[in-house]
Amino acid sequence: MSGLSQLYARLNQRALSEAQLFNYGFPRPGILPGKARVRIHPDTFWTAHPSPKERTCERCKKIYEVDSSGYPMVKEVCRWHQRRAKNGIHGCCGRSTYGKTCKTSPLHVTSDIDPDNLKGFIDTSDSDISSISVFALDCEMVSTTRGMEVAAITVVDYQCKVVYETMVQPEGRIIDYNTIFSGLTQDDLRGVTTKLEDVHTKLMSLVGVRTILVGHGLHNDLLRLQVFHGRVVDTIALYPHPKGLPAKNPLSFLKGRYLPHLSVNAGLKCREDAVATMMLARLRCGFTASP
Ligand SMILES: [Zn+2]
Ligand SMILES: [Zn+2]
Repeated sequence: MSGLSQLYARLNQRALSEAQLFNYGFPRPGILPGKARVRIHPDTFWTAHPSPKERTCERCKKIYEVDSSGYPMVKEVCRWHQRRAKNGIHGCCGRSTYGKTCKTSPLHVTSDIDPDNLKGFIDTSDSDISSISVFALDCEMVSTTRGMEVAAITVVDYQCKVVYETMVQPEGRIIDYNTIFSGLTQDDLRGVTTKLEDVHTKLMSLVGVRTILVGHGLHNDLLRLQVFHGRVVDTIALYPHPKGLPAKNPLSFLKGRYLPHLSVNAGLKCREDAVATMMLARLRCGFTASP
């Protein structure tokens, strides 16, 4: 058995079932072609828009109004903490939940979704690719008038080598580059002409129904990428939090604990994270982190 087929066989045993995919918040094919259904569960996976004209701020949790394009109606500074409070103390700055926030942004941003309007999805089971393969995938997102949109993607193979990487121009107007999380700035997207449909074309030439996709919280990447894929190994499930869902181990924690010497020299954060999740999957299957 080659390294790939051995890894494939071991990962395949850990792939999420259809019920698990839905419970973990993955987009699954709905009744109409290209339309997705997802599990709505605030604080766990997805929050729906409070109303067509309202959004929940991803950062400060305030509900704010938007115009017909999705742009905030009122220019209001968002005051927030980068990390949630544990026992009344925020991990980012050590301040209490009653004290001042440590971060400010010019506007509120949202990761809400409109569950009745998830359209334009591609299904990898329609791909012509029939061979076995294992890829890890990670995206960076920016906040736009259409919510969170993919602005960068990296796909690596089972040996952690990059097989696809591109910046992506979002369709909506950009509200915030989420630099603190995405590492992206205005300069990174200047002159980028690749659209999500170009990414779809590439993914359909790479990923088939037998492909195992590895990711950390891959439900988020696949929803924003607008892709249905049914054979998934998620490092959230491979390395479960002792408290069980909705508690999840952050990737940064898993990297620090299992990959202390990880140095990808990436530039793009999604490249480092795609490599890290592939390494974590390999480790769980008794392989070395990198070949
Ligand atoms: Zn803070
Ligand atoms: Zn806010």
